[in-house]
Formats: sequence, structure tokens, C-alpha cells
Amino acid sequence: MWQKLQARLEQRKAHDLLRQRLTLEGAQSVRIRAEGKEYLNFSSNDYLGLANHPKLIEAMQKAAKQYGVGSGASHLIIGHSEQHHALEEELAEFLGLERALLFSTGYMANYGVLTCLPDKNDLIIQDKLNHASLIDGGMASAAKMLRYAHADMDSFERQMKQPAESRLVVTDGVFSMDGDIAQLSELADSCKKHKASLMIDDAHGFGVLGEQGKGSLEHFGLTQGTADIYMATFGKALGGFGAFVAGSELLIESLIQFGRSYIYTTAMPAAVAAANRAGLNLIQEEAWRREKLAKNIDYFRRLASEYHIPLMPSQTAIQPVLIGRNDKTLAISRALKEAGILLVAIRPPTVPENSARLRVTLTAEHTTDDIDYLLEQLALQIKQMNEKT
Ligand code: PMP
Repeated sequence: MWQKLQARLEQRKAHDLLRQRLTLEGAQSVRIRAEGKEYLNFSSNDYLGLANHPKLIEAMQKAAKQYGVGSGASHLIIGHSEQHHALEEELAEFLGLERALLFSTGYMANYGVLTCLPDKNDLIIQDKLNHASLIDGGMASAAKMLRYAHADMDSFERQMKQPAESRLVVTDGVFSMDGDIAQLSELADSCKKHKASLMIDDAHGFGVLGEQGKGSLEHFGLTQGTADIYMATFGKALGGFGAFVAGSELLIESLIQFGRSYIYTTAMPAAVAAANRAGLNLIQEEAWRREKLAKNIDYFRRLASEYHIPLMPSQTAIQPVLIGRNDKTLAISRALKEAGILLVAIRPPTVPENSARLRVTLTAEHTTDDIDYLLEQLALQIKQMNEKT
């Protein structure tokens, strides 16, 4: 095993695919410290700038004083505190759904839903570009999984015709590496027609999209109940950590009884739940953050097109710059780092072969000066790279 692993690692390295971590020396923010330097950060999912907000910090400190740090057990043993309970109730009320259930991470929420709800006679039908946790959950499920070409309704309809006792259609609300929004009206109509259930992973839509921040369904003017299973995370727009699933009483009770990734894991600390509650409050109280982010997205796209930077058709905070080759993408990312910008290269297998990209994520905290500097440097590096190769 070890020899084979060594060979796999070396192969990764040879193809410029070795992943590396950066050790931060301060808070998550637009300006971030690492390796003794300050960088302008364009790689964070902290879309609304809440990860370092004083109200979240205060809520966490206060709750840690009252509840301690460790939650001590899983939710079903004695790990479920009044902070968790209040957060679940506030989420259900905000979304207008019957109930919500906390999970320690989004990965576990998706894995739990797909491995415990459908059985061997059912079909899971997923977009090919869905998040890895949905794909992994689908593969581990007793149900058969089919995938359709990304955002391709013909391919989707073909999969819907496959025989099954029942069908669960699963899609990201906002696709994490492309930034486009799923065609939710069309998917929901088809689900209705075929009596299929719909699950939305709105990790990148919740808090950001829609006038009130309710996410991708609100963005299209659809009711929250359009999805039978609504999942989102706290680690992005809400500035916290963890995830939840929301929907009917039947959905939530089934997850509590049968969801192994819910049952067999320690509950998130109560202090984290308290910080998530503060984040949930802020997305409701401070709509200006979404407006500022929308302005930044608009500004970025307009200026990028003036610089002829190869963007994808995304209208969200995720604005990938498609480069293609792994070595080129990595070289541009390294050159930007030299210029004080953190813009991480995203390479296969996270994205398809030959589609390596620099995934720009914009936040409400970026200024137009920040965006000017990024695009000026990006245009320069892309030009220099193209001249070299
Ligand atoms: N779904 C999507 C679409 C995501 O982007 C992510 C996180 N990258 C997750 C689920 C997993 O969430 P978490 O980080 O809380 O495990």
C-alpha cells in the first residue's frame, strides 16, 4: 500500500496536481496574514464578511463561558444544547419550513441524507458538477445513482425516464467551482411531473442570494417548499461553521432516526451554534452586505471584460477565471502571490481535466481598489504567461 501511495503522490507532483496548504497567522478576512506577509484574499467563501464580525465573536465567547467548549456527546446522547435547539427553530422560521436539523459539517449532511433516505429500489439523479459530498453520498447509498451532464435539461430528462420506485433529484443551488445557478424552476417542474423529490445543496446560495438571503429558491421567486430537502452550510456566507437540513417533519425525524452521519458524531460546540445564530441574525439585519456584494460582482465582471479576462457565465460571488492547463494556472497563482494576492489554483480532480482555473471569490468586504488591483495583476500575469508558452 505505501509503495503505491508514494507512486501516486509522485505522479500528482509530476502533473502539477499536488495540493498544498497555507498556514494563516490571523483572522479570515479580505486582508490575511501568512508566512509573515499580508495578502489580499480572493479565495474565501466568507461572502458577506461575517467570519470575523464582532457580533459572531462576542456570541461565541459568551456561549463558551456558559456552555464550555466541547459539546461532550452526540446530539442523541447529551450533546444537544438549547443553543442548538434555538438555531434549528430560528432556521425553520426564517425559511418557513416545518423543521431544521443541524449537522456538524455540510459534507456529513449531504452524505447522511443520501445514504439514509433512498433505498435500493430508488434512484438518485444528480448534476455531474454537484459537490463531492453529494457524489460520495450517492455512491455510498443503497439507491442507484445516475448523473446528468451539467445543467443539461435533455440529459436530465433522459435520466428521469429510467425506471424506479421513486426518484430523488439532487442539485447544488450555486455550483461551487463554476458559480452558475441551477435551473431550479425547470428541475422543480419536472420533479412535479414525474412525482420525484428535489434536494438542493445551497451552500453557496444561502445568505447570499434572494432579497432576504434565503438562497437560490428565493432568487427565482420560488417558495422554500419547492425543495423537499433543503441543505445549506454555516461556513460560508454566515461566517460560522457546520450545516443544516430543512424541510418537513417526516424528513427531519427520518434523519434523526436513521441518519448515521447525524447519529454517530459529536454535536458541534454550543458556542459554534451561538455564533451561527448571530450570523443568521446578521444576514437578516444587514441586507446592505448582499447589495454591496452584488455591486462588487457587477464591477468585477465589467472590468474583467475590458481586460479580456476569460470569465465563465457566473452571476454569483464565484467568478472563475478559466486557464485550462494545470502548470499555467499554478504559475499564475504563484505570480499573483508574489504580487500580494491570494488566488488559489483549482485543478483536477476538483474540476474536469483541462479546465484548471483561478476561482475568484468576491465578498462584500472587497473595495473597488482591491478589485482594480486584482484585475490589473491578473491581466498582466495571463499576458506574460501566454507570451512564454
Ligand atoms: N456543499 C457544497 C456545495 C460545498 O461547497 C461545500 C463546502 N465546500 C459543502 C457542501 C460541504 O460543507 P462543509 O464545508 O460544511 O463540510
